[in-house]
Amino acid sequence: MTDDTSPQSIRTEAIESLLIEKALLSANAVDAVITTYTERVGPMNGAKLVARAWTDPDFKARLLVDATAVVEEYQFEGGQVEKLVVKECDPFQHHVVVCTLCSCYPWAVLGLPPSWYKDPAYRSRIVAEPRKVLSEMGLSLSESTHINVWDSSAEIRYLVLPQRPKGTETLSESQLAKLVTRDAMIGVAQVNLP
Ligand code: FE
Repeated sequence: MTDDTSPQSIRTEAIESLLIEKALLSANAVDAVITTYTERVGPMNGAKLVARAWTDPDFKARLLVDATAVVEEYQFEGGQVEKLVVKECDPFQHHVVVCTLCSCYPWAVLGLPPSWYKDPAYRSRIVAEPRKVLSEMGLSLSESTHINVWDSSAEIRYLVLPQRPKGTETLSESQLAKLVTRDAMIGVAQVNLP
């Protein structure tokens, strides 16, 4: 969410203009970072992995065994995937990711974390009462589905491989990728047909 009138935004803009004025930073450099995080680094990268895993069993097997190596091959920008682990959801097991300590997150495949991910309420409650928090976020899971909560850290980051929705058998890999959302790859949502 962008709020250009928040004290943080105003302070950031003031610092940015001062740094540019003093020639310590160039406006182009700032633009380049913004372009990187809006166009090249974001959930579209994780979505590519998910869609390919849904359509290519060998790729999925490799992704589940060593996601770090797979992601290295893709050479995504953004970092924070030095050790990436992918957890696959099925009707019996759901996975959801948190960083209880701060906000560790796999930037190269998901972009920057949403603000709720950094919220102390999410960080503590998802561990204590995951089923309740997920249902508050719009994901109601059956009582028979076990929920695993994975705590990210500076050493290890997680990506959730959501279940492929029914009725998508005829879709291509790129059409499938468009269905995959950031929230589904954190594990607070499922992938649905529009
Ligand atoms: Fe963290």
